[in-house]
Amino acid sequence: MIKGLIDQGAIPAGRWSQRAQRILGGELMTPAEANEILDSPREEILELLSGAYRLRSHYFGNRVQLYFLVNAKSGICPEDCHYCSQSKISDAEIPKYKILSEDELLEGARRAAQLHSRTYCIVISGRSPTPQEMRTVTSVVPKIKQELGLHICACLGLLTPDLARELKACGVDRVNHNLNTGEDHYEEICTTHTYADRVETLQAVRDAGLEMCSGGIIGMGEQHEHIVQMAFALRDLGVQSIPVNFLNPIDGTPLEDRNDLDPIKSLQHLAMFRFVNPDREIRIAGGREIQLRSLQPLGLFAANSIFVGDYLTTKGQLPARDYQMIADLGFQIVVRNERGEEIVCDPPEVRNDPLAIVT
Ligand code: SF4
Repeated sequence: MIKGLIDQGAIPAGRWSQRAQRILGGELMTPAEANEILDSPREEILELLSGAYRLRSHYFGNRVQLYFLVNAKSGICPEDCHYCSQSKISDAEIPKYKILSEDELLEGARRAAQLHSRTYCIVISGRSPTPQEMRTVTSVVPKIKQELGLHICACLGLLTPDLARELKACGVDRVNHNLNTGEDHYEEICTTHTYADRVETLQAVRDAGLEMCSGGIIGMGEQHEHIVQMAFALRDLGVQSIPVNFLNPIDGTPLEDRNDLDPIKSLQHLAMFRFVNPDREIRIAGGREIQLRSLQPLGLFAANSIFVGDYLTTKGQLPARDYQMIADLGFQIVVRNERGEEIVCDPPEVRNDPLAIVT
C-alpha cells in the first residue's frame, strides 16, 4: 500500500526523512516548514512519522519516560482557563479539596515508583501557591527524594523568582507551567492572567536553575499558526520538556463542544513539535486516549514520554495497557532507583489479557 502511494506521488519520496537528516546536520526548522507539517496531506503521515522518528531515535533511542501525576489540590480555582474543569467558570462535577497532606503526597510518590514512573508530578490548582501550600511541598519533596529517588516536577501556578528559588532549594528538579497556546490566541483561552505572566514564571524557573516543562493544549479553536507560534516560543525559551495535550472537551467547561481533532491531526502535531524541538523531551499528555485512539502507539515514534495512570480530573487508560503498548513497539522505559540513578529496562510484563491486570 505504501509503495502504491509513493507511485501515485502521494508520498513525495521521503521529503520529511530528508528534512530530518538536514536537522541532524545542524539546520533549524522554520515556522513556514512547521506550518507545512500541519497542512501536509494525511496520506503522508507515515513518511512524516518516519522523519520524526529519525530525530527521536537519534536523541532518545527507543526509550520512553513515564510520568505520574498527583492532583494535590483540586478545583476552587479563581482563574478562567476555558479548557479547565477546575476553573471558577466550570460547572464540571469534579472532586474539590485543599492541598493533600504530606502522608498522602508520599503515598502518591510510592504509587508513582510502583508504576515505574521516572518523574512524579505534584500539581495544584490555583493562580499561585499559598504559603501553606509551599510549606507542604517544600517539606515533602526531600522525603520523597530520600525514600524513592524520583525526579520531581512541581506545577503550582504562577511563581515569583523567590518561590522558584525555594522550590529549587528543597530538591524540586523541574517546574511545569504551560504556555497553553500561541500568544496570538491566548486571550481566547484565558483572561485572568496573561501570556506574559506565564512567560515570566518560566523565566523565574530557568533563572532559579530548575528545568522547565512547558507545552500546551491542541484543539482549542486555534489556527495552525498559533500552535507553530507556541512551538517556536518553547524553543526560544529553551524548555527541556514539552507536554502536548489534546483537548478533552469536558462537560461544563466553555470548550465542552469543541471537536477539532482526530488521530492523524494529533500525530501531525506531535511530529511538528519533534521537528521544531528535535532534542527535547516531548510527552503525549492529556487527551491521548480520546484523540489518538487506536493510533496511540504511532505517537511514540515522535514523542518519547507519556503519563501513566490518571490525569488531573479525567481517567487515563490502565497502566497495563501502556506497558503492553511499549513492549509491543519493542521500546524500553527509563526508571530511577532509590539513589536517583536512571536505569533502562523493559516495561513490566503484562500477562495475556492486559485489561485483566490493574497494577
Ligand atoms: S489551569 Fe490552573 S490556573 Fe487555570 S483554571 Fe485550571 S487550575 Fe486554575
